[in-house]
Amino acid sequence: MKYIGAHVSASGGVENAPVNAHAIGAKAFALFTKNQRQWVSKPLTSKNIDQFKANCEKYGYQPHQILPHDSYLINLGHPDTVALEKSRTAFLDEVHRCELLGIDRLNFHPGSHLKKVTENTCLQTISESINITLDKTNGVIAVIENTAGQGSNMGYRFEQLAAIIDGVEDKSRVGVCIDTCHAYTSGYDIKTEQGFNKTFADFDAIVGFQYLKGMHLNDSKKELATRVDRHDSIGKGFIGIDLFRRIMNDPRFDDIPMILETPNTDLWPQEIELLYSLIEK
Ligand SMILES: [Zn+2]
Ligand SMILES: [Zn+2]
Repeated sequence: MKYIGAHVSASGGVENAPVNAHAIGAKAFALFTKNQRQWVSKPLTSKNIDQFKANCEKYGYQPHQILPHDSYLINLGHPDTVALEKSRTAFLDEVHRCELLGIDRLNFHPGSHLKKVTENTCLQTISESINITLDKTNGVIAVIENTAGQGSNMGYRFEQLAAIIDGVEDKSRVGVCIDTCHAYTSGYDIKTEQGFNKTFADFDAIVGFQYLKGMHLNDSKKELATRVDRHDSIGKGFIGIDLFRRIMNDPRFDDIPMILETPNTDLWPQEIELLYSLIEK
């Protein structure tokens, strides 16, 4: 089963996200459980929590169809102790929110070395941040997103995702999310059939499909290996529609939330329909 949806608004309360997802015909959704540009947000109320669960039930969204995204401010690989502590505190709050909402996974960007430490040191710090968080929580999988490798962002090679996982003690509570735009601009040529086959064979060998807990389906406004993160609408960018046809017909991508983060939100209902229409009978 393919679960396609989009990163919908949770404005007015997290309980609105499943309503907004249903309205665009989504079978999955992503959301921010707090303001993504602020360090501290109000705690979730019991009304937020009960309504969120009731709306998920009403519209048929189960945990494996929901992929929340953490705040953009968090850097779990921060080279400075005080700033790292601030990020770890905020990340723990994000995981607690997922626990309260009955969500079983949280998607996050691994972190950045800010040119102050080596890539390896940064990767080890990220693993340690995950270990600390998992120790204090239950039932939520930490889902590491691959990045375009912009600036000093880590996670632009499958080897880096594997290195982070390697440092995590509880392997049952760590996973990855592959963003197609990020994969392409970080240098994986998923546009062609040959490139797609090689990329995901490499992914399976280096990381393993058992860790794949979500996808971000985005086309790209930038060319291969530019290491710039600019999403485009499905079929309108440099990647093109064939990648998405291959994904929709590949059972390795079954039963996980697949989330559009494409720039024109008005197109989401059509994009979801388009993606489902690519499935060959
Ligand atoms: Zn992301
Ligand atoms: Zn992106």
